[in-house]
Parts: sequence; C-alpha cells; structure tokens
Amino acid sequence: MKEISRKRILVTGGAGFLGSHLCERLVAQGHDVLCVDNFYTGTKDNIAHLLDCANFELMRHDVTFPLYVEVDEIYNLACAASPIHYQHDPVQTTKTSVHGAINMLGLAKRVKAKIFQASTSEIYGDARVHPQTEDYWGHVNPIGPRSCYDEGKRCAETLFMDYRRQHRLDIRIARIFNTYGPRMHPADGRVVSNFATQALSGEPLTVYGDGSQTRSFCFVDDMIDAFIRLMNLAEDPNGPVNLGNPHEVSMLEIAQRIVEMTGSSSVIEFGPLPVDDPWHRQPDIGRARQLLAWEPHTSLDEGLDATLRYFSALIRATPRTRDATCHAGAKASMLQP
Ligand code: NAD
Ligand code: UDP
Ligand code: UDP
Repeated sequence: MKEISRKRILVTGGAGFLGSHLCERLVAQGHDVLCVDNFYTGTKDNIAHLLDCANFELMRHDVTFPLYVEVDEIYNLACAASPIHYQHDPVQTTKTSVHGAINMLGLAKRVKAKIFQASTSEIYGDARVHPQTEDYWGHVNPIGPRSCYDEGKRCAETLFMDYRRQHRLDIRIARIFNTYGPRMHPADGRVVSNFATQALSGEPLTVYGDGSQTRSFCFVDDMIDAFIRLMNLAEDPNGPVNLGNPHEVSMLEIAQRIVEMTGSSSVIEFGPLPVDDPWHRQPDIGRARQLLAWEPHTSLDEGLDATLRYFSALIRATPRTRDATCHAGAKASMLQP
C-alpha cells in the first residue's frame, strides 16, 4: 500500500464481534491497526489470526481511562452490546459509553484524527415511528434496566456532536441495527446466538413473549463494508446514519427458520418478555443508500448459513454443558462460553 494512503487506525473494542471483523478488513487493506480492548466481552481468540501480522498491534486497555497514542483515525466500538452483558455491570456500561467517548474524543482532538462512533438503534428505544429514520428522537426509558446502554449511547452521540460543533472534529456516527454473524459470543444471550446454539444442541429454542416482536438483522460483512464507507466519506455527514438491513422478521419466524436450516429436533418454547423489550425495529437506510452508495447484499438465509456453520464448529470444539444458553436476566456466571 502506498505510504500516503496507509493510515494508523485505532479500533477500540477490536477484540469483540464487530471489532475483530473490522480489524481484519483494515489489516487486509494494508493499514496499521491498533486494537484496544479490555476483554470484558471480547476475546483474544477473535483476533488470534491477526497477531502475527506486522501491521496489527494489540493493547489491553480500558477506554474509561485516558489513552495517549498517535493515530489518523479512530473507530470507537468499545462497549458490551448484548443485553445480558451490558446489564451485568450497568455502571461500567455507562462509564464505557460516556467516559470512553470523552477520552476518545479528547484523543481525536489532540491528534486531529477522524473519529467514528458505534452508536445503536437502541437510541430509538421502543420506537413510535416505524421504520426508524435518523430524525426520530426516540422513545427511551431513562431509568430501566436497558437505560445504561441506551442513555449511555445517547450521551455519547451528544458528546460527538458537541465536539464537532465546539472543536470542529470530523466525526461519523453509525446507528447500528441488529447485526449477526461468525464470532458472536455463543453465550451473549442475543437471539441469533441463542437460537443457533440451542438448535445445534437439540435444546428447546427460547422465544420470549409470543415471538411476534420484530428485528431486522444485518450480516456482519455488509455492516463492516458500511463502517468503512462511512469513515472514508469525504465530507462529515453532519449527523447520524442508520446502518442495517431493512428486512424485518419476527422472532418466531427466525426460530422456525433456524430449526429448519439445522434440521434440528428442537422444540420452540415461550417464556416471559424482558422488561422494555422494543416491539418493532426496522431501519430506514435511505440516508446510507444516498451518502454511501451502500445497501446490504447478504440474504438472511446466506447469513444464517455462515453463522450456523461457525457455531457448529465452535460447539464441536468446545462441547456445551447442558442448558448453557444465556437468558435475559442472567448474571455473571453466564458470561462464560
Ligand atoms: P462485543 O461485546 O462483541 O464487543 C465489544 C468489545 O468492547 C469487546 O471486545 C469488549 O471486551 C470491549 N470493551 C467493552 N468495554 C470496554 C472498555 N471499557 N474498554 C475497552 N474495551 C471494552 O459487541 P459487538 O456486537 O461487537 O458491538 C461492538 C459495538 O457496536 C458496540 O459499541 C455496540 O454497542 C455496537 N453495536 C452493536 C450491535 C450489534 O448488533 N452487534 C448493534 C448496535 C450497536
Ligand atoms: N485524552 C486522552 N488522550 C489524549 C487526549 C485526551 O485520553 O490524547 C482524554 C483526557 O483524559 C481528557 C479527555 O480525553 O480527560 C477529554 O480531552 P479534552 O482535551 O477534550 O478535555 P480536557 O482535557 O480539557 O478535559
Ligand atoms: N429473544 C428471544 N429469545 C432469546 C433471546 C432473545 O426471543 O433467547 C428476543 C428478545 O426478547 C428481543 C429479540 O429477541 O425481542 C432480540 O433480542 P437481542 O437480545 O438479540 O437484541 P435486542 O433486544 O438488543 O435487539
């Protein structure tokens, strides 16, 4: 890669699900990648294949503490993302989102780096507008069990916009909708990882509520493509951009599809709906289509097929203990795979 286009890029949360795919893509593009992670939910296994690359470096660090490095771009992904993980230590979740954002913005300001924030569709809460457009302000419970994540991420967006207005930082805010794929943590309690590991192990699939709630799932490769396009956009887009796959499915549909695809004998069981569980979620990606000339290309079946193959190999390598699935409300013991 020509020296002029080769950048020094910091990825916080780089040992996590999305972060590891992003590091992999940036390393393959020839950039110098610094992966920073405190291994709260991420693992070295996710980036083990990059450790021998001359243009990849790993640093154990918690972003709630200041970080002094010299970089050209920052992707700020550090933060537990699944409800059982971010609710396990909610104070740390808010600190990671807010103090982490302040530190990364302070770093970006000092070294004049472009900075990307991994925001979330949770900004919209239990949305009253459907599909969700970027100009919708959201419907978020500020004091419930999901608030540490939702409000932490909302505050991070405020900080990003204020550093832009006050300090003229070049910022990118991606509002990421549910994303799935290989390297999701098998015990993160998210719906795709739960259903996949349950179906592959012949255990009942745990649908919460009656399964009519919806989500729109984007395959990880499509999402990473969008991250890089957003970062590389010549102009600061002045505000958040929704990234996700608009194809909306109910949780019952996805359970049935996973049972079919795995040929599993698992039955579907119904349990209580978690507190403040958003009812419907679907991104309006008009802004991303126009700004980034991007849209997702991986169908749900293609993405599920790759994900199921990943979990199948993982289960073969590390046999699950019975009922190892993580459920909403689960605590510390559930953080292990
Ligand atoms: P993940 O839990 O796999 O990755 C998060 C990473 O951040 C982990 O490696 C974790 O160890 C690290 N981390 C957490 N706190 C940290 C801290 N204080 N200092 C340093 N590292 C820390 O989750 P993911 O799915 O890869 O999500 C990555 C980012 O994308 C998160 O910011 C999340 O909020 C956002 N996001 C993800 C989704 C999704 O569906 N995957 C949806 C919306 C937003
Ligand atoms: N910071 C950092 N790395 C840097 C520069 C700053 O981690 O290279 C942190 C620093 O700890 C500070 C925060 O970023 O608390 C915000 O920095 P800023 O310069 O915006 O604010 P100030 O230092 O004036 O509070
Ligand atoms: N869900 C489910 N069974 C599970 C895990 C999750 O029915 O074993 C539901 C959950 O209640 C929610 C949806 O699936 O309605 C998506 O949950 P996830 O935790 O994956 O993402 P989020 O709620 O953050 O969008």
